[in-house]
Amino acid sequence: MLFDTHVHLNVSHFDDDREEVLQRAKDAGVEKMVIVGFDHETIPKAIEMAEKYDYMYAAVGWHPVDAIDMTDKELEWLEKLSSHPKVVALGEMGLDYHWDKSPKNIQIEVFRKQIQLAKKVNLPIIIHNREATEDIIQVLQEEKAEEVGGIMHCYNDSVDYVDACLAMNFYISLGGPVTFKNATLPKEVAKYVPDDRLLIETDCPFLAPHPNRGKRNEPAYVKLVAEKIAELREQSYEEISTKTTENAKRFFGIK
Ligand SMILES: [Zn+2]
Ligand SMILES: [Zn+2]
Repeated sequence: MLFDTHVHLNVSHFDDDREEVLQRAKDAGVEKMVIVGFDHETIPKAIEMAEKYDYMYAAVGWHPVDAIDMTDKELEWLEKLSSHPKVVALGEMGLDYHWDKSPKNIQIEVFRKQIQLAKKVNLPIIIHNREATEDIIQVLQEEKAEEVGGIMHCYNDSVDYVDACLAMNFYISLGGPVTFKNATLPKEVAKYVPDDRLLIETDCPFLAPHPNRGKRNEPAYVKLVAEKIAELREQSYEEISTKTTENAKRFFGIK
């Protein structure tokens, strides 16, 4: 059994064959997934799908790339949605310094507001990080994010930062890059993270694992991620799939 902790089946890439994609996930042993909404279009779609499928849960947040578009209205909307029975986390939120649509100071402000909201409604958070690890850790520490805990989604930085994340009650989620031939950092991280803090994800439709790199990603491929992690940790596939599923259920409060 596998738990894909980060999917975007709520985007148009899946409009033509969503049901087939879900069937392939089931066939691959994907028992549960969290569908992540990050803007005006994908948030309602995440809720709609979580209501439709009992094995699907939703996370809602405002993406840092679009931080400049978030007003009090969106924040109130997120607060309202946070009490939905299938909403298990707030996010993705965080910092993305790769794109320059939203200035850093605005990204940080929007990030802080969402952490504060998570603490108010008592939900854990899912962190999107691109080229911003040190600022993310600093903001999480300053906002005392350890009170709710969270996930570093698709963690792709040095193992040196992992301890700081673990100290704040964070889990480390690995995706497709751990399977990439030239990727050294996520492989080191895969070997380092303790058994009870490791999660797996696809982040589909993005970041498809080897040998599907460059193609559209889908939840069935989370199996490739689990297999690679098992190989790197010298543990069995069963052990990794069981552990990461248990961890995800505990983290999201899913029975
Ligand atoms: Zn992300
Ligand atoms: Zn994502």
